[in-house]
Amino acid sequence: MKNNEQEPVGNKEDKYVECGEHQSMRRAFVCQHLNNKTVVGFEEPFESVENMELDDEEDFQAWCFECEKVRQIEGEWNDRSEAFAKIKLICEKCFFEMKQLNLGHK
Ligand SMILES: [Zn+2]
Ligand SMILES: [Zn+2]
Repeated sequence: MKNNEQEPVGNKEDKYVECGEHQSMRRAFVCQHLNNKTVVGFEEPFESVENMELDDEEDFQAWCFECEKVRQIEGEWNDRSEAFAKIKLICEKCFFEMKQLNLGHK
C-alpha cells in the first residue's frame, strides 16, 4: 500500500510567501520601517525563534521603536497606529535577518 504523505492543504498555503531572495518560506509581518540594513528596533508580540512551531492563527510579527511609541500613545493597534506602521509582508528568513540585525546578534 502506498502512503500518500501530502497533507491536506486548506489555507496552509497562504502561510507561505515567495521571497525575492529566499525560497518559499513562512510569511511574517513587519512594519514598513524594518529592513535589513538599519537598526530601528524590534518589538514583537511574542518571543520568536527561527523554525519554531506556530499555531494556525499565529504569524511572525514585529515593528520598530517608532511604531511602538505610536502604538503606546494610541494604546493599541488602531487605524492611526496601523497607518503609521504600514505593515508589510515578508518571509520568515528576512524576518530573522532583521531581528538579528536589530538585536545585534551575529
Ligand atoms: Zn515602524
Ligand atoms: Zn526572504
